[in-house]
Formats: sequence, C-alpha cells, structure tokens
Amino acid sequence: MIAAVHSNFPKAAVPRNYSSRKRVMVTGGAGFLGSHLIKRLLDDGHEVLCVDNLFTGTKDNLREVAGNPHFEFLRHDITFPLFVEVDEIYNLACPASPIHYQHDPVQTTKTSVIGAINMLGLAKRLGARIFQASTSEVYGDPHVHPQQEDYWGNVNPIGPRSCYDEGKRCAETLFFDYHRQHGMEIKVVRIFNTYGPHMHPADGRVVSNFIMQALRNEPITIYGDGSQTRSFCYVDDLINGFVKLMDSPAEVTGPINIGNPNEFTILELAEMAIRRTGSSSEIIRLPLPADDPKQRQPNISLAREKLGWEPTVPLEQGLARTIEYFRRFV
Ligand code: NAD
Ligand code: UDP
Ligand code: UDP
Repeated sequence: MIAAVHSNFPKAAVPRNYSSRKRVMVTGGAGFLGSHLIKRLLDDGHEVLCVDNLFTGTKDNLREVAGNPHFEFLRHDITFPLFVEVDEIYNLACPASPIHYQHDPVQTTKTSVIGAINMLGLAKRLGARIFQASTSEVYGDPHVHPQQEDYWGNVNPIGPRSCYDEGKRCAETLFFDYHRQHGMEIKVVRIFNTYGPHMHPADGRVVSNFIMQALRNEPITIYGDGSQTRSFCYVDDLINGFVKLMDSPAEVTGPINIGNPNEFTILELAEMAIRRTGSSSEIIRLPLPADDPKQRQPNISLAREKLGWEPTVPLEQGLARTIEYFRRFV
C-alpha cells in the first residue's frame, strides 16, 4: 500500500539517497567554498542548514539553492553558542583572504578559536561527526617543500598573518583534544589555494585580483618579483575531497592535505590570466606583503591513499570557467 502511494510521487520529489539523508550544518555556507559544498550536499539528497554571519559571504552565493525546501539559512556568528539539532557539521566559517582576515584580526582569532569550541561543544552534545576547514597556512613560510602533513610548519606568532595562521593551528589543537578527550569523530582538512566561481571579486586574493584586472584591462599587480609559487585547486575538485573525507571511516581523522600539486609562479599565473582573457593589461610590481610565503605545494599522497582522491581540473580549464563567472562584475 505504502509503496503504491510512493510510486505516485513525481520523481524529482524523491531524494537520490533517501535512506542515507542527513541533516548537515555548514558554517560559513554563504562564502565561496561553503556555497559550493551546500549545492553538492543538497544534490546528494541531504538537508542543509547554512549558518553564516555574512561578514564576507553573501546570499547571492546561495541564490541557486535558496528555493530548495531542504535548505535553511540562519544568520549567526559562531563565536556565540548555537543550539540546533543536526547529524553532521562542516565548520568553514572564517574569512580566508588576507585583506578580510586582517581587517579585524581579533575577530578572526575569535572565529577560529571560540567558534571551534562552540561547534565542537555542539557536536559533542549531539554525538555528531565534525569537519574542520583548516589551511595550508598552518605550514607558514615552509622550510619543507612540498608540504606533508607531518611537517609542523614555520609560522610567525606575532605578524599580520598570525591571527589567521595561529587561529587555525589552535583550532586543529582543539579538534584533536576533543577527539582524544571525548572520543569525538573529527575530520580535519588542510586546504591549499582554491579558486573558482563565487570567489568574491574584491577579496584581494591573487586569482580574483588578476582576472578582474585582466578583464578591465587594468594593470596586473604582482607583489614582489612574482617568483613566489602557489598550487591552485579548482573548487569542484576540492569539494569532492571534502565529501570523501567526511564519508571516510572514523579512523581517518586527518589532518589531510587537499589541493592541486601543480605549482605555478605568480608571474606565470599573471601571464595566463592575460592570455586567457585576451587582455591588454600590463604587469606592474608592488611591494611583497610581510610574511608572504615564498613557495607552497601540497604533498597529496595521504589523500590519494586514504580517500582515493586527486584533482582532475587543470589550471587553464578552471581559469576559463572562473573568468566566465567574473565577467558579470566587469
Ligand atoms: P569566504 O570568506 O568566502 O567564506 C567564509 C564564510 O564564513 C563567509 O560566508 C563569512 O561570512 C563566514 N563567517 C566569517 N566569520 C564568521 C563567524 N564568526 N560566524 C559565522 N560566519 C562567519 O572564504 P572561503 O574561501 O569560502 O573559505 C572557507 C573556509 O575554508 C575558511 O575557514 C578558510 O579559512 C578555509 N580555507 C579556504 C581556502 C581557499 O583557498 N579558499 C584555503 C585554505 C582554507
Ligand atoms: N555549545 C554550543 N551548543 C551546544 C553545546 C555547547 O554552542 O549545543 C558551546 C557552549 O557555549 C560551550 C562550548 O560549546 O561553552 C563548549 O562546550 P563543552 O561541552 O565542550 O564545554 P562546556 O560546556 O563544559 O564549557
Ligand atoms: N599576490 C599578488 N598580487 C595580488 C594578490 C596576491 O602578487 O594582486 C600574491 C601574494 O603576495 C601571494 C600570492 O599572490 O604571494 C597568493 O596570494 P593570496 O592572497 O591569493 O593567497 P595566500 O598568500 O594566502 O596564499
């Protein structure tokens, strides 16, 4: 009888993985990475609660999911306690771009540290699995290259980047102490530079800066001599890694690097942005910011081994998709 009733439902009303549908909370869900993660989780048939104070994120990033009956938005700052009922938590809330996280550095540390305590306390009460968006910045200006998870890093504790780097390092400490002390299931990912649609066009990160400058035929601003390196991961690849890590066996806690090991100099990136947009921009040089890491490249052996994950989108291809997205802001 019940089966007969169900068979009358239109197909679209039946989530793909009905039996495994979870209530998933994403903090920082209105931001660049969070909005892609939410789309993916809804596509996978889950219910999603987005928690965000809209400091750097925007509801525009959620336009595609806003009408979905399985999606809910809560405006809330995670430095304050939160009482909701969910099965899983992805903790992404934190400004990620240097100009944003240095705007109110005390709030940045509070978001990383007090925010982590609140989200861990929530997960502890619920017995929920909790995921932390950590960062390659925990390696600081690394003396080991490429960076592997067992490298402890080279971080200045009192510089302009420290609010972010040390905040994220302390959050990792808290995750592992809650895991050891309370037996909680944790998943800690160290994200390397990621790019794609929904990056804020004015957030000052290198990919968004170079594309916007190239599209506007304005000078491309290279800080320093452009020989510093970064390894850029396309957002879809990263989100695949997130979901694989969250769904991995409990003993896979991380920290685990997720990023694209193909390394480029900043000068190469500038030239690629000019070529891909057909821009007439010239390249200019500006001073290198304090504590700017000289090189960065993930070693992803652990992600390959534990998650069967590796990136698939080459930089040229990902840049082309990102350029298409940024055209609307020109
Ligand atoms: P983003 O700035 O686009 O998104 C961060 C979101 O968190 C925003 O929507 C913002 O409004 C929200 N937020 C900030 N403080 C908050 C608070 N106190 N309470 C509630 N919400 C708050 O940044 P992103 O690139 O999407 O980064 C997401 C996460 O991934 C961050 O934790 C960041 O540190 C980490 N990360 C990102 C990268 C990258 O390349 N994008 C690299 C390493 C780590
Ligand atoms: N917390 C929360 N929601 C909950 C449970 C806890 O926001 O559902 C916060 C609360 O503010 C607390 C923090 O998480 O201070 C840490 O919780 P924990 O149980 O680890 O510590 P305690 O409550 O003993 O300070
Ligand atoms: N950068 C640059 N021009 C810009 C913005 C950034 O040359 O307009 C450089 C920056 O100094 C750094 C690299 O690009 O060496 C990556 O900067 P981003 O802020 O994107 O990320 P992070 O330094 O956190 O890796």
